[in-house]
Amino acid sequence: MKRYALAIHGGAGLIRRHGLTPEREAACERSLRRILEQGEGLLAAGAAAVDAVEACVIALEDDPLFNAGRGAVFNGRGEIELDAAIMDGRDRGAGAVAMVRTLKNPVRAARAVMTDSPHVLLVGAGAERFGSARGLEQVEPGWFATEERRAQLERARAQDMVLLDHDAEELDVYGTVGAVACDTHGDVAAASSTGGMVNKRPGRVGDTPLIGAGTYAWNETAAIAGTGHGEPFIRLGACGRVSALVELAGLSLDEAAERVIADLEALEGRGGIIAVDRTYALALPFNTGGMFRGAVSHREPAFVAIW
Ligand code: ASP
Repeated sequence: MKRYALAIHGGAGLIRRHGLTPEREAACERSLRRILEQGEGLLAAGAAAVDAVEACVIALEDDPLFNAGRGAVFNGRGEIELDAAIMDGRDRGAGAVAMVRTLKNPVRAARAVMTDSPHVLLVGAGAERFGSARGLEQVEPGWFATEERRAQLERARAQDMVLLDHDAEELDVYGTVGAVACDTHGDVAAASSTGGMVNKRPGRVGDTPLIGAGTYAWNETAAIAGTGHGEPFIRLGACGRVSALVELAGLSLDEAAERVIADLEALEGRGGIIAVDRTYALALPFNTGGMFRGAVSHREPAFVAIW
């Protein structure tokens, strides 16, 4: 039997039921299910985990329902700055980009940084020049923008708040994205992509592109992707901490993920984690009102859920 496991997320936040119309809820669930099935198809056909998580995140970036790629949130100056990362658990190879404004799929650029450069993280204009030299598709910054996002920024400005995407109540339907997978060879990988937080300061970089904070993968422990208020994830080194708790404290994946959510809470951090290990165990804990998420494995049929 082919063995595999995959989890994806579309962001965590307050997500109040009354803030999400039945149509939006159904649309988000449809998208998550479609992307999960695509990823499952790849893994069942023998694709490497790193290819499957990249493909899932590209699909989530292209979907304007989620806060990554097209449909990303605006910063305080009404601009969109995108962050992404990918990590391959086989050799702990990693690549990331931050503050990019013209690369259509930031996760592709992160992959190129991992495979075609001696670096791990490139930011801003340097990352864009690198991506363009690698032939990655570029678009005008306005291409990412949606009217709903602009309205969301205006509301955040009116409250003078920096918000998690899903905390902007009326538009509780979008979110940062991520994927983790274990493939038929028992190799794991993780990828994440985001527009960050609504009304963030220009130049602010969150946890998503920081290896160990919002993204981590190592075959010996697990592949982990986080979503939520990035600053506590950075202070805790949240995703690397899940890995360390498995490696050094001997916790199960479930215990390690739950423990890191509790540690985040102690820093007043809110968010969630998706994780998978090479035994195909999955964990998807969160301490927010909800987290757009889905998972599937050779053992369990696909499920998607928000609350
Ligand atoms: N973690 C992301 C950030 O702080 C936001 C999110 O996950 O929604 O940039």
